[in-house]
Amino acid sequence: MASGDRCSVEVANGVLERLVQGAPLHDVVEEVSECLRSVLSGSAVLVVLERPGSESEPVSDPRLSDEVTLALRTLGKRLSNAGSLPGTPFGPQGAPIGVWIDTTSHDPASQPVVEAIGRAGFRSLWAVPVRDPLAGHVGWLFACLAEARQPEPGEFSLLTMATRFLCLAARQEGIVQQQASGDYDSLTGLPGREVFLKRLGAALARHQRRQGRVGVIVLDFDRFRVIHNSLGVAAGNQVLLTVARRLRQSLRWNDTLARLERDEFAILLEGLQCEQDAIEVTERMMQCLHRPITVTNREVMLTASFGIALSTERSTAADLMREAEFALADARSSGGGQYRVFSQALDQGIRWRMELEIDLLHALERNQFHLKFQPVIELDTGRIVELEALLRWEHPKYGSVSPSEFIPIAEETGAIIPIGRWTLREAARLMREWLNRFPHLSPDLKLSINLSPRQLRYSGLVQDIVTTLAEVDLPPSRLKVEITETSLVDTGDTVLSRLEQLRALGIELALDDFGTGYSSLGYLAGLPVDCLKIDRTFIERLGRDQAQAAIIQTIVSVARALGLGVVGEGIETEKQLVHLRALGCTRGQGYYIARPLCVDGVTALLERGPTILHPFQNRLEDPSELLAS
Ligand code: C2E
Ligand code: MG
Ligand code: MG
Repeated sequence: MASGDRCSVEVANGVLERLVQGAPLHDVVEEVSECLRSVLSGSAVLVVLERPGSESEPVSDPRLSDEVTLALRTLGKRLSNAGSLPGTPFGPQGAPIGVWIDTTSHDPASQPVVEAIGRAGFRSLWAVPVRDPLAGHVGWLFACLAEARQPEPGEFSLLTMATRFLCLAARQEGIVQQQASGDYDSLTGLPGREVFLKRLGAALARHQRRQGRVGVIVLDFDRFRVIHNSLGVAAGNQVLLTVARRLRQSLRWNDTLARLERDEFAILLEGLQCEQDAIEVTERMMQCLHRPITVTNREVMLTASFGIALSTERSTAADLMREAEFALADARSSGGGQYRVFSQALDQGIRWRMELEIDLLHALERNQFHLKFQPVIELDTGRIVELEALLRWEHPKYGSVSPSEFIPIAEETGAIIPIGRWTLREAARLMREWLNRFPHLSPDLKLSINLSPRQLRYSGLVQDIVTTLAEVDLPPSRLKVEITETSLVDTGDTVLSRLEQLRALGIELALDDFGTGYSSLGYLAGLPVDCLKIDRTFIERLGRDQAQAAIIQTIVSVARALGLGVVGEGIETEKQLVHLRALGCTRGQGYYIARPLCVDGVTALLERGPTILHPFQNRLEDPSELLAS
């Protein structure tokens, strides 16, 4: 197709020029997307490149709604895990390069996407994996088209070329490292994925005839990215070599150790009698990894997460790999440094999570979210000083799902961005209404919202907040933002400067769940925060354990020395409240004071007046009397 060829040359020239100029990945992706859009008229293009372990916002056509973007990202993630594509393959004879999914498809795996793009007015989706010939899967190129059609042969080369350029740009950016040459990894000399899968297939075939089971263990390092980023590629490679050597030493000669990618390894075990056999091998590996590694004159400690799967009579190589990867994902999400054995229960848990993941995509448009508000009071006077907005999801099948369960999923899929936007808008709107209705409220009453790590890394955060507050006419000084201590660990200067920008606008910043993270005092002093919220676990143990009082007192004095406010969270009894107050904590929140309230509940509360009073406040002048008794 002559015009296709001409366009392909234009695409090539434009993108090559950007590559030669050493343009950042984002620009190259923009260029590729733009060229595709101009060639495929009426289309919208989304590129998702996966940087293992780190954040990459997809480069997306502004015409694509959040819903479509999220649905495509989720599909991409699921497909990379499952390795199979629902839809009609297309490409030159015998060598498919992608799949075509049309909006009349009924495949359950592609249903959310089909619905989302259908609603956005598209009739087809072309999904083309971006695969690096050496390093494997890198991401996805998605094109949404207004017509229901497959690519024509003239367009195959255009799409292939686009994905090649994306690979090149990703390599240039260091996302894809040149590693495995052929079947063996050039750095460690270990077998790569292909060889591992072949050996696994052969082992399974052998074991159908013999006694015993085949086991697969996959492991990856919990904080390898930090080492890689802070010490550089050479040091990262040295660490990988050391761990590969240690792992090899802890295995038997006939076990296969392979490097699947970057910092992910796999082990093939044969002749296992039971689960415990594989666990013992895992524990041995954990032990041998649990020694410092010296690299560029520094000592680093690494922990890894492990996923274990054992064969059944019918297991295929693909099943076992998937099960071990599922178990690994579970171990990783439980905080790392642990192992998990694949089981039916784990499988169900993962399926439940996947179901929630899909349902979460539609939860906003289906109005399944609402907010509750929990007051924070001044302990001395009972004056309400804050209303913390807490998100609730009413799931049609499972009822009320706790934010502790769905926020991590929303974080992972990126859905937290539109959900967070909704939360702020809704909370700010309600706050505006309350302020208008009850002018007697304290002039410093604030609305508090929680932000998760992903939201902090989102580049549009500050703008979103500014726009929303302006739209509902709520001054920034009425807003307080809560972030957890752990979300600041390993963050770069961008996040810190984003927090500074919020503060410069007059928004107050609080460290939530304080005491559960790892901040040192020195670190704390450098953070742009105004307030500490002492985690409820300390308050819970207060009275049972002497040390807790000392810890709280220390937190209070540190906060005072740094000029920060302190709020005690999770106060459930009068005794805890009095004790906290005696320890110098001035503000508090918890079921004893008020549970999270629905909107009408808050209105009724504010109608009664600006304070919540408790019995002891009338009884005691000096709370230390009660402590002494
Ligand atoms: P958090 O910000 O620390 O919120 C306090 C949590 O403690 C709330 O749980 C609240 O209901 C609960 N709580 C309050 N007083 C007591 C008490 O006296 N005893 C006990 N046992 N619990 C108490 P909830 O609403 O389930 O929220 C859990 C977490 O989910 C929140 O912890 C926050 O980190 C997160 N979250 C909630 N809403 C949002 C949101 O809109 N966005 C984001 N990013 N995270 C949210
Ligand atoms: Mg909070
Ligand atoms: Mg908290």
